[in-house]
Amino acid sequence: MDKATNYQEIIDEIFSSIKAEENNGQVAQYIPELAKIDPNKFGIYLQTINNEGFSAGDWNAKFSIQSISKVLGLSLAYKILGDKIWERVGVEPTGNPFNSLIQLETDQGIPRNPLINGGAMVICDMLFSHLNNPLPDFLDFVKQIGKNDKINYSEAIAKSEKSVGYRNIALCNFIKSFGNLENNPEEVLNFYFNMCSLEMTCQELAQTFLFLADDNFRTNEDKRILSMSQAKRINAIMQTCGFYDESGEFSFKVGLPGKSGVGGGILALHPDKYCIAVWSPKLNQKGNSYRGMKFLERFTTKTESSIF
Ligand code: GLN
Repeated sequence: MDKATNYQEIIDEIFSSIKAEENNGQVAQYIPELAKIDPNKFGIYLQTINNEGFSAGDWNAKFSIQSISKVLGLSLAYKILGDKIWERVGVEPTGNPFNSLIQLETDQGIPRNPLINGGAMVICDMLFSHLNNPLPDFLDFVKQIGKNDKINYSEAIAKSEKSVGYRNIALCNFIKSFGNLENNPEEVLNFYFNMCSLEMTCQELAQTFLFLADDNFRTNEDKRILSMSQAKRINAIMQTCGFYDESGEFSFKVGLPGKSGVGGGILALHPDKYCIAVWSPKLNQKGNSYRGMKFLERFTTKTESSIF
């Protein structure tokens, strides 16, 4: 029997069993606005490429997608600049936390991959140089791929992160000192903090990532976003680098390309099948959603839908 027919039943079952278990971890504390989020929020949305949707819990509440936005920034830079982007950022997992400074010194300011903070800043610098109105243009791109006008930045979250962003400011200046930024670090950081502040519901997030799961994806204007080869490469980077120093563990347990954010969201996708967004704000020690990881591990096990 095709397991796809059971999606709702499986989601409901895993959702209630996890809800009944202990909710471990801690809501991100270092961004004051994020620390205020209700730790018990828990939502799921599964969007298939055949336009079916399955959901549970707080799937319709907006949350801060944080680092999940790095995949969207990367996608737009890749679309505009093609393979030139790989001259300034690598494609290797780091085995280090998302905001680590250590490797940048030995790597001469070329971040290991675009899904850690330093790598995303280099991508933001590229976008800042190539977009006429960087923040509105990037938002338009996200709205276009999500086919959704209701997506926006959160000024409060961007401002809150900026007010305490000492480590990110250090990272950005460090990269500039190696000559791997064209623009002023302050402008790049402003773009970066706003990008991270994007808010979406689980449904919006799952729908926004369909362009990486569905080879036939077209925008409402009938445009393709990335070539198949480009989409494959971005999925490969999510698979190997999407969870920082827990990327191997996510691959091992869940077996899908995905990306997490410190707002407690995780987006994972199965090429040619579906995108799934899970949101639960309490994070484990590596900065990934505690319940989100657990949910997805059980989900790909029960549906037998890991890519491996
Ligand atoms: N805006 C956050 C930061 O730069 C993003 C980190 C994350 O979601 N892992 O620290």
